[in-house]
Amino acid sequence: MSEIHETEKEIKQHEEELKNNFSMDKFSLKGKVAVITGGNTGLGQGYAIAMAKAGADIFIPTFGKKEWKNTQEIIESVGQKVEFLDCDLTKPGEPEKVIEEAIARMGHIDILVNNAGMIKRNPILESKDEDWDKVIAINLSAVYHMSLAASKVFAKQNSGRIINIGSMLSFQGGKFIPSYTASKHGVAGLTKAFASEMGAYNVTVNAIAPGYIKTENTAPIRAQKERNEEILSRIPMGHWADPYELMGPAVFLASDAAAYINGAIIPVDGGYLVR
Ligand code: NDP
Repeated sequence: MSEIHETEKEIKQHEEELKNNFSMDKFSLKGKVAVITGGNTGLGQGYAIAMAKAGADIFIPTFGKKEWKNTQEIIESVGQKVEFLDCDLTKPGEPEKVIEEAIARMGHIDILVNNAGMIKRNPILESKDEDWDKVIAINLSAVYHMSLAASKVFAKQNSGRIINIGSMLSFQGGKFIPSYTASKHGVAGLTKAFASEMGAYNVTVNAIAPGYIKTENTAPIRAQKERNEEILSRIPMGHWADPYELMGPAVFLASDAAAYINGAIIPVDGGYLVR
């Protein structure tokens, strides 16, 4: 229901506010610094390039398996600064070090994207404890530690954005991936818990829940003809997404245009969940 304006003066003031308080600049990330875990590959690289194109400088904690050159070249070619730090986010103390190092090298931080993650597939009766521990450590515990370290900084500066990366498995049980499902439900829970407390500090905490995206992570299921067809038949848009299809939502959530979105888990899934 729209607000009731009792006097003509109030109506005029309201019209002025609508006219003046919004511009396309609200979507810009100019002057911001984004820390993007796993920002060197797959979806993370897409978020990093998109945010750089929107004007942000980028700090990428990476696990060190891949070349940095490609990401570095692309980001520098759009005129933004990018720095990398080789680390293992599952090691105690490393997430806090990443945040410290990001501030030391970039001057400040404004956005955290908790993207790094992994998946281990096995029928539940053949689950391995070590897989459970590894998946929970990077997909959930690292998200908690990174978010907490960043939140301490964001609370002091009274601004910040945290974007977590969930999954369709933040909503569903899935098949053969109990540790992944548990971790991504956990990410949805952490998103809500942090949003609930950090809103008071002008910090928003949201999650993107990507559908089925073409990355290294999903190559094994795309290679299984039957499973691939089963998934495709459930996607109203009729195709697996490319990482670039996630770029817009990430920039939007990081921007001032999304300042009042807090605690949302936003599916970017071509409609998979509604079918
Ligand atoms: P990738 O395997 O391409 O990327 C995962 C990233 O996480 C890599 O950059 C990897 O670094 C990093 N990483 C893994 N372990 C660690 C660690 N211990 N410390 C630091 N970094 C680490 O996968 P995607 O791009 O597909 O996935 C990115 C995110 O999106 C994940 O959270 C995933 O669950 C989620 N997602 C993906 C979907 C898809 O369809 N692809 C669907 C839904 C969600 P390195 O390369 O150096 O090892």
